[in-house]
Amino acid sequence: MKKRIFSGMRPTGRLHIGNYLGALHNWVQLQDEFDCVYCVVDIHALTSLEDTSQLKSLTREMVLDIMAGGVDPEKSILFVQSQVPEVAELSAYLSMVTPLSWLLRVPTFKEKAKLQPHNVNYGLVGYPVLMTADILLYKAQVVPVGQDQMPHLELAREIVRRFNSQYSPTFPEPEGRLTRFPMVLGLDGEKMSKQTGNLIELAITAEETTRKIMSAITDPSRRFRSDPGNPEVCNVYRLHGYFNADEVEGIGAACRTAEIGCVDCKKLLAERMNRELEPIRRRRRELESRPGYVDEVLEAGAEKARAIACRTMAEVRSRIGLD
Ligand code: SF4
Repeated sequence: MKKRIFSGMRPTGRLHIGNYLGALHNWVQLQDEFDCVYCVVDIHALTSLEDTSQLKSLTREMVLDIMAGGVDPEKSILFVQSQVPEVAELSAYLSMVTPLSWLLRVPTFKEKAKLQPHNVNYGLVGYPVLMTADILLYKAQVVPVGQDQMPHLELAREIVRRFNSQYSPTFPEPEGRLTRFPMVLGLDGEKMSKQTGNLIELAITAEETTRKIMSAITDPSRRFRSDPGNPEVCNVYRLHGYFNADEVEGIGAACRTAEIGCVDCKKLLAERMNRELEPIRRRRRELESRPGYVDEVLEAGAEKARAIACRTMAEVRSRIGLD
């Protein structure tokens, strides 16, 4: 039997290359090795999204990119979190075995509370409990995580141990599987952000992609074409590492000796990136031309997810004594 994996993405709309390298690429690779449950976590979005009028369209845009990127509904369960309401019930039960002190020490809670001081809601502090419910509802044994998400996963494991010892062994302790790529920076060398536009969405055209790459910040100390460069401080070089792994070493050497200039280096990156992204863009156009298909996929995914969730909840209620 394959192990089960659970992973979710917040509905932020169209995916960009940071989402692609940090999550989507991994989701696609894991499909053959694991029994995958993939989810757009729209309830989580409510912890910070006060205007929900765009939530459905953001979810839809994201699902188009997820499927275009290679998540196959024949292999994996793909659904939207709120379509399986059992997650809210499980989250309520798990919150009863989770000390508040555990939640208050989570670094991302402190960061988020600083970012939205006018809206430090209960959902924000309870976010790791809902995340744990997402994982446990499907009894996932493995969760793909970035290094920064390890504290959340450790908390999920602590909640599992508490629940299992208070009632009886019910859930597996989920293991983390580190994603291959660390956080990818934006074209200006800062964290990627839709607000600043320093990112490249998967769905934009090849021409737009090239234009964006040509505007990227490089090694700031390299002022003239004849100056030797420092690829280790250059984000274009890092992107070569992701999209042009075979040539990246040679590019680094050519940069250090000024054999290659930044314009040619960026053009090469744009060409390699467009080559990798073109099939994704083509599949997205195909999916867009089939209205109703994405809804069908999500409905079928929610039905499969709900079947697992209902079994888990029957067991949980019985263990607690609520049956
Ligand atoms: Fe960066 Fe390439 Fe310019 Fe070197 S040649 S500084 S790696 S863009």
